[in-house]
Amino acid sequence: MNVLHRFIDFVLPPRCIVTGDFVDGQGMIAPAAWRDLNFIADPKCIRCGIPFEFMEEAVRDESVCAACLKSSPHYNMVRSALVYDDFSRDLILGFKHGDQTQNVATFVPWLEQAGADILHDADYLIPVPLHPYRLLRRQFNQSGLMAKYISDKTNIPVLLEGLRRVRATPTQGYLKTKERYKNVNNAFIVPDESRALLRHKKIVLIDDVFTTGATASECTKALLNNQVGAVSVLTLARVVKPVRV
Ligand SMILES: [Zn+2]
Repeated sequence: MNVLHRFIDFVLPPRCIVTGDFVDGQGMIAPAAWRDLNFIADPKCIRCGIPFEFMEEAVRDESVCAACLKSSPHYNMVRSALVYDDFSRDLILGFKHGDQTQNVATFVPWLEQAGADILHDADYLIPVPLHPYRLLRRQFNQSGLMAKYISDKTNIPVLLEGLRRVRATPTQGYLKTKERYKNVNNAFIVPDESRALLRHKKIVLIDDVFTTGATASECTKALLNNQVGAVSVLTLARVVKPVRV
């Protein structure tokens, strides 16, 4: 621990982002928090990452869920650290809309672990972009911040301009699956300056929540149309049944 970290810990003693208890270091969480957080574990679908315990339909294959067998997604794999529930929602909303950007230090080890099988051979991380208007209002892109911190730990470079959102889409919160897909249709492009760089490369898209897959799917389509090799998705949380985000 360097002098600056010691000074910060002295002035602002580190607290657990879930329980608020004092902890030994920045980014750590209190023992009680582990009980509340619902980490995604095996067995899960190797494609979309849904834990099989949440599947209603019978699993027809040992490793791929019924939905992915029926209609193969554009992206290779989705990996997420947490089930999206009351606890992870509070964490994410605080991170996204509040001033709790320091929580990223807690999230990164979870993301690294959840994404191990897609990060190990990735060429670039690309955060799902916000439209410039929303970025201006919110001051920062939470996915960009996560991507930057994962990059610092893994040395996989981040391309902040790998994708650009060209349409200001309304928030997806109250939309049904079909409407979500329509809402983000053709909302993303690969900017000219990134095209040559991305050709035949393996990309990991970074986002906060995987809900219906509409956003991930549109981003993937834009990338694959530009000769990207393969796209996988890494998110902090994943919806396992219909809820509002
Ligand atoms: Zn699946």
